[in-house]
Amino acid sequence: MKDSDGKMIVVSNAEPYKHEEDEKGELACKEVEGGLTTAMNPQMRQSGGIWIAYGRGSHDFEVTDSRGKVSVPDFPDVSEKDQYELKRLNFSDTQYEKFYRGYSNRILWPICHSFPTKADLRKEREYWGKGYLPSNKEYARAVIKSYEPGDTIWIHDYHLALVPKLVRNEIPEAKIGVFWHIPWPPWENFGKIPHRNKLLEGLAAADLIGLHLEKYADNLLRCADKIDANVDRGSSRFKLAGEQTQVGAYPLGVDYDFFNGSTTGNQEEKIREKYNSDHIILGVDRQDYTKGIPERIRSFEKFVRKNPDYREKVTMVQRTPLSRTGIEEYQKEKSDINHKVSEFNGKYGSHDWTPINLFWGGVPQKELIAEYRAADIGLVTPGLDGMNLVAKEFIAANEEPKVLILSEFAGSSEQLDEAIQVNPYNTNEVANAIKTAIEMPEEEKKSRWRKLRKKVKKEDLQDWAENFIGDLEGAHQLHSMVNYTTPRKTRQTGG
Ligand code: UDP
Repeated sequence: MKDSDGKMIVVSNAEPYKHEEDEKGELACKEVEGGLTTAMNPQMRQSGGIWIAYGRGSHDFEVTDSRGKVSVPDFPDVSEKDQYELKRLNFSDTQYEKFYRGYSNRILWPICHSFPTKADLRKEREYWGKGYLPSNKEYARAVIKSYEPGDTIWIHDYHLALVPKLVRNEIPEAKIGVFWHIPWPPWENFGKIPHRNKLLEGLAAADLIGLHLEKYADNLLRCADKIDANVDRGSSRFKLAGEQTQVGAYPLGVDYDFFNGSTTGNQEEKIREKYNSDHIILGVDRQDYTKGIPERIRSFEKFVRKNPDYREKVTMVQRTPLSRTGIEEYQKEKSDINHKVSEFNGKYGSHDWTPINLFWGGVPQKELIAEYRAADIGLVTPGLDGMNLVAKEFIAANEEPKVLILSEFAGSSEQLDEAIQVNPYNTNEVANAIKTAIEMPEEEKKSRWRKLRKKVKKEDLQDWAENFIGDLEGAHQLHSMVNYTTPRKTRQTGG
């Protein structure tokens, strides 16, 4: 990834590193798990620049300078040239609550994942006025302060839809890209949001809006059309409230070489020894109702019930980093899952066999590679997922042929045709897919795996970033020719 002449400014809600106490009580820098860190961190470590994000670690502001900046990662073995600047923002708890838990995760997240009944639309105005709008303004102020001519501003995700316009108002000539990491829903869902016009106006000020899939880009253009934007389907562009932007599909890939590379020690063998099972089935998902974990457990239960011969021979491992811990609904889902798993293990397990091994909490990706390699089957069955990187990482990590069972509602299913694709809500189908995966003839397994690895290698993280930055450059030039040849007045954004 090469940004033309200036530096890269990445903007996101989640920070890539946090500072907290380690087990020995010492202050330590920790990588924050998640798709966004995975996507942008390798690029930033290579090319440098500045990343602006909310500081959520308990000791985050003890290591920053007076401007809220710290060089990361400050691991002992990382030299200065592999570090970049992280600027941490700090909002009041009430503001962050309404911005993050409120507007972002109780309005936009469920609406965009087509779970509208989980959206708290009665509180939309309150979350907007006291959380989303003021927080977006603070992000925009930080971007404006860090900006120098020639820089590339790359804004990530649904938390920050207003930042493009807020920045554009102050820096008309800025090069601004947005990548939207979650699905863009059909109009019937998006249209329910009271501030739908303001959200689209905010985004329209970017030069380029990237989404994972064509169908999400189409949904976005259709939503723009519905609110009377001037949409040109042919060029995938739309004009709205004096701004114009381009929309495109850029399926996010993974750092293939990293996942294909070596792990530390013999972790993989240790994991296999621990479970002592003929077939290990692995699920890795951040805790979220979109990830389909309860349905997956029910499917595995069906498999075990219907196939008594496989009892004691097949073990499921579910790794689940916690997220959005303060939201009541997530706490309830967690305790329901715990209950279900212990009931299931109590019913079917034995002294030598724990059918489901559930772990709450994440591990660094280096360790995850060993877990991917110790497994025989990847079970990735979200109800809806913008892309799902775990599916691609499982493929990249395993040179030896394995089987991937993948939800047809994960964005990655559009590229990964050779996985066994399932409807995650049809637990019979998933149970049968587990049996098919275990019994798949070696030749078929090899052939599918070869094709899957080829795609994941070709359409990797670097490919994604280069395509996006290349198109951003082009869109910006076009945008500049049309819009910024004459000075214009500053406008206001707000709800
Ligand atoms: N991840 C991790 N440690 C864990 C579990 C997950 O680092 O213990 C990472 C994983 O490698 C992947 C990301 O978290 O890159 C999850 O991305 P995905 O697109 O699958 O889901 P998201 O969490 O973004 O919805």
